Amino acid sequence: MTRAILIEKTEEGQTAGLADVTFAPVAEGEVAVDVAWSTLNYKDALALTGAAPVVRSFPMVPGVDFSGIVRESRHPELKPGDRVVLNGWGVGETHWGGLAERAQLRGDWLVPLPGGVSLRQAMAIGTAGYTAMLCVMALEAHGLTPARGEIVVTGAMGGVGSVAVALLAARGYDVAAVTGRPAEADYLRALGATTIIDRAELTGKARPLGKERWAGAIDAVGGAVLANVLSMIRYRGVVAACGLAGGMELPTSVAPFILRGVTLAGIDSVMCPRTERIEAWNRLARDLDMAKLETMVSEVALEDVVATAPEFLEGRVRGRIVVPIA
Ligand code: NDP
Repeated sequence: MTRAILIEKTEEGQTAGLADVTFAPVAEGEVAVDVAWSTLNYKDALALTGAAPVVRSFPMVPGVDFSGIVRESRHPELKPGDRVVLNGWGVGETHWGGLAERAQLRGDWLVPLPGGVSLRQAMAIGTAGYTAMLCVMALEAHGLTPARGEIVVTGAMGGVGSVAVALLAARGYDVAAVTGRPAEADYLRALGATTIIDRAELTGKARPLGKERWAGAIDAVGGAVLANVLSMIRYRGVVAACGLAGGMELPTSVAPFILRGVTLAGIDSVMCPRTERIEAWNRLARDLDMAKLETMVSEVALEDVVATAPEFLEGRVRGRIVVPIA
């Protein structure tokens, strides 16, 4: 028997809670992993609360992330004892996920954990941090360098935002952090933000073009905030858009694209190709200040995960939440 969070469908909607689950024997190409740490991301909160249709089949063990040790392998490149990390691939949505003592899945989905990153640090980073790295990689792939000017990060207190601020600062960028909690700005300054912007400045109706302020952006929020950011990106700037914490819609115009040559780069971590994942994890191991990462982390026990999930949807989580499993 394996302890896990289980989401089940009922006539009224869904229930989520601790349960004992069993797994089929490990199939060809699959690996069984003893999960050491998991984490909570915004998407896990949507799954656990049922606020959005993240879970595609029931019953489901949620958790889009885990780190752990291979217990049994029928995959040619993985052997018992290997340290691995999992992000996405529909895990926690269509395939049983990381909020459990054990995970069993295709070995191709696992990334070997780079040396120097502990199993706990891997989950302090989690999908949020790995996505922040994908955003930085996208900005740089489109030609941004620190010399081009300040980068703005939205949803800065959250998981993606916190790691993005720390990564950009470590790369030498000036970072402006947009937050709905400006009273907690000291946390963001300690991560490396040089300018703090109250989110309220960016929630009104966006003009087609505003004053040119930033060379680029990492946006975890969407909605009016992203529309306002786009209107204030400098000539030939780049925006990496990964989130919807502020809304799914994008009330903008083509003006930033056709008059300022702005690039809107979409970021998806779930189906991101393996080579890019490995590059992102190696760069996280190299570039992320692990002492700063530690300031972002709080721990929640597996039995408290369901009660914690609504805090994401209320915008009350700061930084990253890790869940000790083993
Ligand atoms: P968090 O909840 O940790 O962070 C989201 C942050 O957004 C909050 O901390 C808050 O920051 C801000 N925020 C919350 N509510 C609102 C609102 N109503 N309007 C504007 N801003 C708001 O979530 P994560 O960091 O885990 O994820 C952030 C987003 O990125 C989510 O939408 C998530 O689904 C998405 N995501 C997408 C991925 C992809 O592959 N594309 C991968 C990972 C995440 P503050 O208080 O500082 O304003």
